Amino acid sequence: MSAATTRSRTPDRLCAEAVDLARGAAEELAAPGVVGEHVGMVAEGDRVVTHFFECKDPGYRGWRWAVTVARASRAKYVTLDETVLLPGSDALLAPEWVPWSERLRPGDLGPGDLLPTDADDLRLEPGFTGEDAPPPNSAVSAEMAELVEAEDADVTDRTAVPVRGSIAAVAEELGMRRARVLSRYGLHSAADRWDEAYGAKTPMAQAAPASCVSCGFLVAIGGSLGQAFGVCANEFGPADGHLVSLSYGCGGHSEAAVMPKPLRPAPPVLDSMAADEFPLRPAPDTGSVPSTDLPAADLGHS
Ligand code: SF4
Repeated sequence: MSAATTRSRTPDRLCAEAVDLARGAAEELAAPGVVGEHVGMVAEGDRVVTHFFECKDPGYRGWRWAVTVARASRAKYVTLDETVLLPGSDALLAPEWVPWSERLRPGDLGPGDLLPTDADDLRLEPGFTGEDAPPPNSAVSAEMAELVEAEDADVTDRTAVPVRGSIAAVAEELGMRRARVLSRYGLHSAADRWDEAYGAKTPMAQAAPASCVSCGFLVAIGGSLGQAFGVCANEFGPADGHLVSLSYGCGGHSEAAVMPKPLRPAPPVLDSMAADEFPLRPAPDTGSVPSTDLPAADLGHS
């Protein structure tokens, strides 16, 4: 028997000697030839010992067959308790399981995929639910809403839009008429992400001649994010259609390298388009003007 692995307590002698019983149990459970050498034992308690056998299955390198045997008080016979395959200290194990929600990476979502959002997702907070009741003296109280509605009843169709002056109308105007809206945490984490991709610290921005804040291709956005971000609309830029930090920049900046206007050529000195007079035959010495027209036959003369 190899050197035993024991805890502080001393293994019961009869249980420690029941190696053959333990091996038989392991071989009964395992495939033939898979149970190897006896590699140790552990005293689990009074008259309870676990024997370990090497597992020779190539798929379970470093695993051990663990067979627990026990003996009743004052009994001479050792009995089988349980047999199980356990990983050893150098066992080949599968990576720790990670929930799918933590495994997902940006870009994993494909067409038709559904990505459930946790009910307590930190990026979101409750929006307008319709259950909020305004205080009686509020400008959006029910009395005020009725008054406004009565004034505009004849000119406004209210079947599709919230009643003017109601909480729903105000919430809709603010873009909050949703079950959940972006929380402060969600806002900051999104801003950090965008700043990392299209921010001042990127190599592109570091080498840019000027920043987006002064670029004519920047489309301003509303809300608090508009103070730090805009949308690039330069189709030749690296961030076309993306939210860019105002401190981002690229070589496509509208004012960085303005092309000079092409020079307009001066009007031609020689007019090459008009026909020049060209005499077909030398002029007679009569002193008359030389003929410049077509031959006589073409003019109808014989
Ligand atoms: S073209 Fe370049 S500098 Fe201009 S907004 Fe787009 S990324 Fe910014």
